[in-house]
Amino acid sequence: MSGPEAVADCMFCGIVAGDVPATIVRETPRLIAFRDIDPQAPTHVLLVPRAHHASVAELAGADPDVLAELVREAAAVAADEGHSAYRLVFNTGAEAGQSVFHVHGHVLAGRPLAWPPG
Ligand code: 5GP
Ligand code: ZN
Repeated sequence: MSGPEAVADCMFCGIVAGDVPATIVRETPRLIAFRDIDPQAPTHVLLVPRAHHASVAELAGADPDVLAELVREAAAVAADEGHSAYRLVFNTGAEAGQSVFHVHGHVLAGRPLAWPPG
């Protein structure tokens, strides 16, 4: 499902709407960034378009400017927390670890990050 309207039962639409609490670290007219509730690194921030799109591929097709903004904002989130090196991850599909089907980029930084990922 995709489109700008808030989606019922979508946790991240709830955070965008202010109905679900979150620790927001950056905001723009089109994006919000908030701390992951279960952090996997000293910096673990989720970058979320305000509009609901299920996956990064859907966002790329529907609104590539917002995807480009998200990538720029990821660098800004890391820099704000003192990190020049970071990982930006989009899990896509349940088998790849996606559990919230409102596109989000994970910004991970502040510890050595192994490759390949698990
Ligand atoms: P995914 O598994 O879809 O790639 O990532 C979803 C992420 O959202 C997980 O890292 C999970 O910890 C985080 N998450 C799930 N529910 C909430 C919530 O209500 N608040 C916050 N801040 N993070 C959440
Ligand atoms: Zn949503």
